Parts: sequence; structure tokens; C-alpha cells
Amino acid sequence: MLLKTNASSTLALAASSLALCLLISCNPKVQAPKANPKPSNKQSISTKANTSNIEVIMKTNEEWKELLSPKAYHILREHGTERPFGSDYKAFKELSGGSFHCAGCNLLLFDANTRFDSRSGWPSFWQPAQDENVITIEDTTLGMKRVEVRCARCDGHLGHVFEGEGFGTPTDLRYCINAGALEHVPQAKQNK
Ligand SMILES: [Zn+2]
Repeated sequence: MLLKTNASSTLALAASSLALCLLISCNPKVQAPKANPKPSNKQSISTKANTSNIEVIMKTNEEWKELLSPKAYHILREHGTERPFGSDYKAFKELSGGSFHCAGCNLLLFDANTRFDSRSGWPSFWQPAQDENVITIEDTTLGMKRVEVRCARCDGHLGHVFEGEGFGTPTDLRYCINAGALEHVPQAKQNK
């Protein structure tokens, strides 16, 4: 019965919509304002700026898969977490100086002089190179309340940030970042 009522009201709605369409299409005065429904100044909507002037990069999953290694794709695009003390972390430990950029879009993320050894098995930094280059989002997955860190340009997942752990760093923050989400840029090439 309910279904029938819904069906008849849908039919009635469809009929009235059709009547309205016919009315509009037969009436040039009503049709005129509909001729150009989108103002031209709204066309830049696909390049979304965040809090800074960083232009957001948007790609399909297929495009990211072509650009990234499977490991980087899993971390950046599927919010993956590499296992602690993994091969990328061991390689990270050997690096010194320079800066660390996003493995997805090469945006500067962290300076080497803000890294510290948290003994967690993941790269740790006490502040981003520039605040506007990372975005932080509340993450309640896995039954925990954490703050996720993402790249501000490609929205790639980088890791999480924790506070008040007592590492004695200037900010008492620990940006716990997947080594596989970072590209090292030696000092000499930093300003390129
Ligand atoms: Zn990025």
C-alpha cells in the first residue's frame, strides 16, 4: 500500500515536472535566465586551494599507480603504514643533511635538522619545514584517536603527529612519518 502511494506520488511528481518543463520550454521569458546557468568565474573550482597558496594536485588512482612505487602508493594513497624498522627506515637512518620531500609530489615537508631519534622505527621530526605544507586531520581508525598528517599539495597520507611524549624537543611534537612517503633532497639540490 505504502509502495503504491509512493509510486503514485512519484508519478504525480514526474507528471508535474514534465508539465513544468514543457511550460518553461514553451515560455521564452522563463527560459532566458537558464541559458547561461554557470557564471564564468566558477571555472577554477577544480584547482582547490587550501589554507595557503599551495595548489592542490588531484590525480586518479590509476595515475598515481603509474607514478609511484607500490610501497609509496600504499602509504600515500591507501593510508598504509610501513612496518617499523623496515628497509626504507634503515635507508633513512643513513641519510644526513638536506631535506625531506613528499614522495608523491616533491613538496618540501621536513628539514633534516628537525629530525630526532624516537626509537620508534619510523622517521621522527619535531616540526614541518613549513606549517602550510602539511595538513592535519583527526583520525579515529583502529579504535584510537590520532592526528593524521597529510601532504598539503597531493593530499597523500604521510603518518601521524603525537604530542606531549617528553622527547625534549623544542615543540614536544613527534611527526611520525613513513619513510616510504619521503624523498631525500641533499642540501646542494634543495633550492633547485
Ligand atoms: Zn605530496
